[in-house]
Amino acid sequence: MFAANEGKGGYKLLNHKDTPIVRHTKVKGNRSIYDGDLVYWSSRLGKHPQMPTYKAKLLKKQKGKCNHCGLYFKDSDLMEIDHIIPKSKGGKKEYKNLQLLHRHCHDDKTTRDGSLNRAYDKGSISEEPDAPKGARPVLETSQTGDCLA
Ligand SMILES: [Zn+2]
Repeated sequence: MFAANEGKGGYKLLNHKDTPIVRHTKVKGNRSIYDGDLVYWSSRLGKHPQMPTYKAKLLKKQKGKCNHCGLYFKDSDLMEIDHIIPKSKGGKKEYKNLQLLHRHCHDDKTTRDGSLNRAYDKGSISEEPDAPKGARPVLETSQTGDCLA
């Protein structure tokens, strides 16, 4: 090891393995900044001319993923800004207290975090989350098919 005893703590020549490998994620071959995928480019660059700055910054910070469900945002997804610590609990509107969530994830989170800015607080509404929507037939269709008559 090459080292010198000068200065406080001395100096030492770093080993090759002391430098952590930071991989650069390559832009996929068929990607273009003009392809209209705002979420992808905002997540990469932290900015996009067609994306509000705060949104792009949060996307980059979250690496394009929703902090609630952990899934990647898609361009068609509805995204909402969430106060990690709710405003009603003293959370401030600053970047470190903001996160981007899917709209449905935001709803889910605010029902549990004690927010007062939604009508349904205190978790008084208990909804069966797994109730299959299609289980109850709403419209009885005829088996013969009218259009063929
Ligand atoms: Zn989500």
